Amino acid sequence: MDIPASLVPSFQQIFEHSPALVARAPGRVNLLGEHVDYNQGIVLPAAINRAVYLAASPTSDGLLTLHALDLNEHITVRLDQLEKPQPGEVRSPGWAAYPCGVAWALQQAGLAVTGMEVVYTSDVPIGSGLSSSAAVEVAFAAAWRALGGWQMDNLQLARLCQKAENQYVGVASGLMDQFASACGVQGHALLFDTRSLEWRPLELPAGTAIVVADSGMRRTLAGSAYNDRRAACEKAVALLSVYKPGLQSLRDISAVEFAAYSVMLPDEVRRRAEHVVKEILRVEQAEQALATGNIQSFGGMMFACHKSLRDLYEVSIPELDALVEIARHLPGIYGARLTGAGFGGCTVNLIDASQAEAFIQGLQAGYEQHTGRQARVYLCQASSGVETESRRA
Ligand code: ADP
Ligand code: MG
Repeated sequence: MDIPASLVPSFQQIFEHSPALVARAPGRVNLLGEHVDYNQGIVLPAAINRAVYLAASPTSDGLLTLHALDLNEHITVRLDQLEKPQPGEVRSPGWAAYPCGVAWALQQAGLAVTGMEVVYTSDVPIGSGLSSSAAVEVAFAAAWRALGGWQMDNLQLARLCQKAENQYVGVASGLMDQFASACGVQGHALLFDTRSLEWRPLELPAGTAIVVADSGMRRTLAGSAYNDRRAACEKAVALLSVYKPGLQSLRDISAVEFAAYSVMLPDEVRRRAEHVVKEILRVEQAEQALATGNIQSFGGMMFACHKSLRDLYEVSIPELDALVEIARHLPGIYGARLTGAGFGGCTVNLIDASQAEAFIQGLQAGYEQHTGRQARVYLCQASSGVETESRRA
């Protein structure tokens, strides 16, 4: 495993000898399938070549000692005293809740969780929607798996990490983030069915690159608006089940059925549901586009997704719209859209890798001219998922 050179001194400084284990777990970006995970839809994320790196030595004292280098924070906790927080209780310190939550979820599953001293650092930007939190969780889970000697496939490991985030950290999130960090495949997007949990890698055409552009706008409204959108989807299911008895989720209604019945829905509910139904269809069509190497068509679906998120689901903001519109006219662009819950955060762009420099310069200059703001831009490749490597002789 290639540890970025800048991290080696920090790892060595803390461990006198080489650590027993190093682990890497990537962040992720979602290429298509937005706001469909809680409607049992299909998503298309990719793990990216930005990751959490940790170095760990096992201890026999039942203690977990954490050195979070990026935060300059250190803490030691007893692994036999981890408890799920009561409703409304806030874990303090929040940053340690991610590794502690993973230990708790593994213990709940009856797995051995050894004491360890861990140094970790990451180049996944924190809080930008590239899932720095899932990367932390998956790296720790993989470290405990390697040191504990138990077997578990990466998808199941991801599910325990999701449980940690949902129940211990207290953040309601789907499985996509942890799944992508755990199961990423180099050069591939991951077609992930959030209902059956079946998945398979889809090769991204050679010569493409993923560019993530952070608008710098924080997702202030995201929490309440997210709940509103979920509620609208549930309402649509309740109303549509009059026409289609047994309807469980918007996944179960085809675009043709939706066209026939949607006139019965109140306007706002109809627009929210229309996004979801058509987005699920788009992901199905995207599979075909990638299978035939039709990257132009795939890019067109990304633009269509953005338009739908902007006009039907109404989760965009002017800064994200500006990034997408500027990208549309730049060299090398195939597709661009907001990624994540919306109301801030990032856009994802699929581009011709050979034009990356001109594209990034154009995007940064255009965004500054249009909004007076600086966009942080990350050139990414679809990367492999979590890995661990023993380092002791
Ligand atoms: P994101 O969209 O990046 O996942 P979250 O708010 O879900 O944003 O998670 C960010 C939190 O995850 C941080 O506040 C911190 O508690 C934890 N975290 C992420 N990266 C690191 C890191 N490098 N070191 C320590 N904790 C981290
Ligand atoms: Mg997160």
